[in-house]
Amino acid sequence: MLCPICKREVDEATKGREGSFFPFCSERCKLIDLGRWLSGKYQIPVAPQDESDEAPPRITSSEDDEL
Ligand SMILES: [Zn+2]
Repeated sequence: MLCPICKREVDEATKGREGSFFPFCSERCKLIDLGRWLSGKYQIPVAPQDESDEAPPRITSSEDDEL
């Protein structure tokens, strides 16, 4: 299979072997993937999570009745 990071061919036979970084081709690629995963995780607070805290969904269709 291919290394998810650098797309180099990784010998699947090394899977589970001592010193293997499967499915990555090297420790470097493994760390890059970990870094990406962590940075992605830390970016989550920017996601639409504050919707439930600050902006409760309001239905304003009744506005017309008051006018
Ligand atoms: Zn790689």
